[in-house]
Amino acid sequence: MIRHTILRARRARKIDAEYKVFRHKHRNCTFCTISTGDDNEIVSETKHFYIIKNRFPYEVLDGSKVTDHLLVVPKDHFLELRDMTPSERKTLVEVLAKYEKKGYSFFGRSQADTGRSMIHQHTHLIKTEDKSK
Ligand SMILES: [Zn+2]
Repeated sequence: MIRHTILRARRARKIDAEYKVFRHKHRNCTFCTISTGDDNEIVSETKHFYIIKNRFPYEVLDGSKVTDHLLVVPKDHFLELRDMTPSERKTLVEVLAKYEKKGYSFFGRSQADTGRSMIHQHTHLIKTEDKSK
């Protein structure tokens, strides 16, 4: 009888431990843990931003095949552009200009957009197949 109780308690602890790991993983913002070695691929970074590969890239944008899909993610947890300092916003525009020159389009979803899955502000950089070729 005692053995049975101990066995059940062990099982409960194991399940509880798994649940805590699960909760911890899913409660924390994955964009806040880019630097701590989760599986985001960092393409480059500035003082305030990471440029990462989108782990779930779009396949098609406006009828064109997407050839690269990056995200510009602030290192601090901002919800919106207005939460950033003027200096951070300036850096973001400089990053966007650099990628625009390389042929990337960019967009960001507002907090009100139901298609926005991450609350941490981020800007999409999307390159599509060149139709003129
Ligand atoms: Zn975050």
